[in-house]
Amino acid sequence: MRVEVLTLFPELVEQITKVGIPRIAAEQGSLQVVARQLRDFSGNKLRRVDERPFGGGPGMVMQPEPLALAVAAAKAACGADAPVLMMSPQGERFDQKWAQRLAETPSWIVICGRYEGVDERFLASEVDAELSLGDFVLSGGELAVMAIIDAATRLLPGVLGDAASAIEDSFSVGRLDHPHYTRPVNWRGKSVPDVLLSGDHKAINEWRLANALGQTWLKRPDLLAGLELKAAHHMLLREYLNEYASQWPDK
Ligand code: SAH
Repeated sequence: MRVEVLTLFPELVEQITKVGIPRIAAEQGSLQVVARQLRDFSGNKLRRVDERPFGGGPGMVMQPEPLALAVAAAKAACGADAPVLMMSPQGERFDQKWAQRLAETPSWIVICGRYEGVDERFLASEVDAELSLGDFVLSGGELAVMAIIDAATRLLPGVLGDAASAIEDSFSVGRLDHPHYTRPVNWRGKSVPDVLLSGDHKAINEWRLANALGQTWLKRPDLLAGLELKAAHHMLLREYLNEYASQWPDK
């Protein structure tokens, strides 16, 4: 996966390949991040890429020409059919489906806004999709793009040590992940559920499925509403909820 990031802060974006899973992916050649400095396309001595908004009002707006030139340079490097994405609070909400879609896209170009955002004409003529991290406003698209690169990278084939772990993650199958426990068996008076120590893999898988469904029901009922549950899943969920109700009669 090759990602061309057009930004005023390439040194920030480049940090994504310095740690953790994206670093491993970059080292093994599955991920390439090319961060381009938008000021290199300004065409003026001061390397300015922003101007005051027509119509007045606060803040600055990123000019269309440096952005368009940067997109052209990125396309020349990675292919004219690479989709052009814009990080924006007005965009479509980024989710696991988008992460999967990006992981399957060999090259994509993404623009990080700053200030009040970019000139609307650039958006209309050059951008294929706007993507948002959520209903809040960041001061720039860089942290947002680092988040989506991270989410897509861990879905690339051969990147996670254990391929199964991405499949079991929250959202991959429309529900949340099951709870996790590790050593010690007893921690501050609380012990690990017996079944996880039993070595009985069928029972463990069933417990995990029941707990994944149960946690989804408790924490994200909206997700559960969109799932088609098999009869066996309904039964597991009902057992989980009965158990939960007996433990927490007030909830
Ligand atoms: N005036 C704009 C916000 C500009 S914030 C508006 O209200 O829509 C500056 C830049 O930060 C944006 O251009 C975008 O690239 C980035 N950004 C801010 N919030 C974001 C979010 N929730 N998701 C993705 N990018 C965001």
